[in-house]
Amino acid sequence: MAPPKPPAVPSPSIRALDDATIAQIAAGEVIERPVSVVKELVENSLDAGATSIVVDCGDGGRTSISVTDDGDGIAPDELRLAFARHATSKLASADDLFSISSLGFRGEGLASIAAAGRVELISRRRDADFGARVEARGVTIGDPAHTAAPLGTKVVVRDLFALTPARREFLKSGRAEFARIASLLGQLALGHPRVAFALKSDGRDVWTLQAVDDPVDRLEVVFGRGARGALVAIEQDAHGIELISGHISAPGRDRSNRNGQVFFVNGRLVRSAALSSAWLAGYGSFGMTGRYPYGALGVRLPPGDVDVNVHPTKIEVRFANQSAVFDAVRRAVARTLRATETVRSFAVSSMPLDSAENENVVGRAKLGDSGESGEAQLSFAPSHSGNGIRMLGQIERTFIVAASDGEMIVIDQHAAHERIAYEAIVDAAGATDTAAPLLFPSVIELTPARAAVLHDAEGELAAAGVVVEPFGDGAYRIASLPAGYEKRRFDLDGLLDDLGADDAPREGVAHRNRVLATIACHSVVRAGEALSPQEQASLYERLVRCREPHSCPHGRPTMLRLDRLALAKAFKRV
Ligand code: ADP
Ligand code: MG
Repeated sequence: MAPPKPPAVPSPSIRALDDATIAQIAAGEVIERPVSVVKELVENSLDAGATSIVVDCGDGGRTSISVTDDGDGIAPDELRLAFARHATSKLASADDLFSISSLGFRGEGLASIAAAGRVELISRRRDADFGARVEARGVTIGDPAHTAAPLGTKVVVRDLFALTPARREFLKSGRAEFARIASLLGQLALGHPRVAFALKSDGRDVWTLQAVDDPVDRLEVVFGRGARGALVAIEQDAHGIELISGHISAPGRDRSNRNGQVFFVNGRLVRSAALSSAWLAGYGSFGMTGRYPYGALGVRLPPGDVDVNVHPTKIEVRFANQSAVFDAVRRAVARTLRATETVRSFAVSSMPLDSAENENVVGRAKLGDSGESGEAQLSFAPSHSGNGIRMLGQIERTFIVAASDGEMIVIDQHAAHERIAYEAIVDAAGATDTAAPLLFPSVIELTPARAAVLHDAEGELAAAGVVVEPFGDGAYRIASLPAGYEKRRFDLDGLLDDLGADDAPREGVAHRNRVLATIACHSVVRAGEALSPQEQASLYERLVRCREPHSCPHGRPTMLRLDRLALAKAFKRV
């Protein structure tokens, strides 16, 4: 008997989606997590000409987010419209899309936030005696009611993703979500120095930034304590055309990921692979594989030369002439780095230079206007180590040169010290007396992002001897370091940034080894540090006693050996 025919499946008929579903789909693109709400609201405040913006988050934005500004405000009869999708005061016609100077323009921010949570908005315009208040949720927008209110706008968002459990599932802990918000708000503040910003968590002040002229004051809130010392201001070009500005890390202050790279295009905070690779190109030979410079880089160009309408979150842009922008950034970075102390003489010999700028650098190096350029060249400080090795000195305070009867040895001081520290720390990890309590514990402030990373890696760090304890109000106390570690070399900020990299493994042996290698990396001699002849000899001796002296824990070589034969070959004697 033939099997029964399956019943015909009716082909689905095409239906128009209802408004609520359309709103959900569209909102999903704009509002991904609490930090997206903060971005939309703060950008609205900036567009409204606010001079002061306060952000307060309940449980990292999971329970509530409020943004209060003193900007232009919204008229009561426009409040409902403000929540309508594609309703905006910032564009009049399609032509305007090519000359956008505001941060918003798609008219989707408030509509998307209402689709994702419960919104209360209170606003009062400068010319009005009263303010008005409105509530919105999903596609339901309430009737505005008059109320007393200060000038400006306050938006409170509650129960984010209550209606979309799948989205809510994806949220991290309140602490982790707060870290994202703090990091974004700091970056926005860096791009708008003339606006005062305050960040609160559950009503408590986290940081307050006064309005300033120069964003240099805000670098620490984004990049952490010590950032001002590690970053150099972008040098303007000789013609004074101010296209590129910002602060970038000096050579040797790089990180293991690109998360520390902040970009502004015409004042808009963006992500940009193109700008990131231009920056790296400008770094030229100062870069190392797997290491990235950090800092903030701003580009200004005519609005018509940049397309900001690429993505609903407006976080990406397209340049009309990408290669010109790439070149301008590369040159600005190279010019800036060449002017820094540690780099100048090195640049003469090994950076790709344009001829005009080349002359300039050579001229300065000859004049020795720093009074230190002699020291920055090859510094001869012969000193004997055991094994018949003579330490000849440092090149560029980066490489140590040594010679024996049979060969010449060049050592990368940072990589070598990393190897030594790594093996010591691996040996000690798990031992009971790993940690050496500090006699004078240092107290430092951590950004919320770094505090979150610290919290996550606490166990591994403690096992390796690094004990950092909360000290109240965003301050932390470094209570102990692995035995033998020097406090002055320990860079907790750098360590936490590297550990917090998005692509990092979070568990298992790989994670543990990475924590150990990262501790080693941030506790050792850096490129650019002058070392005494004794320190050079001691580094060499400790390196050759390592189990794997030839590479650092990240796999880069620690030393280069030129033996008799190699030298003879180089001079064509064989
Ligand atoms: P967009 O910012 O793209 O215009 P939004 O949905 O974010 O879209 O905002 C809609 C409109 O509501 C804005 O164009 C603006 O006129 C008004 N608006 C929103 N937030 C504020 C605010 N904080 N201050 C003044 N006006 C605001
Ligand atoms: Mg907006």
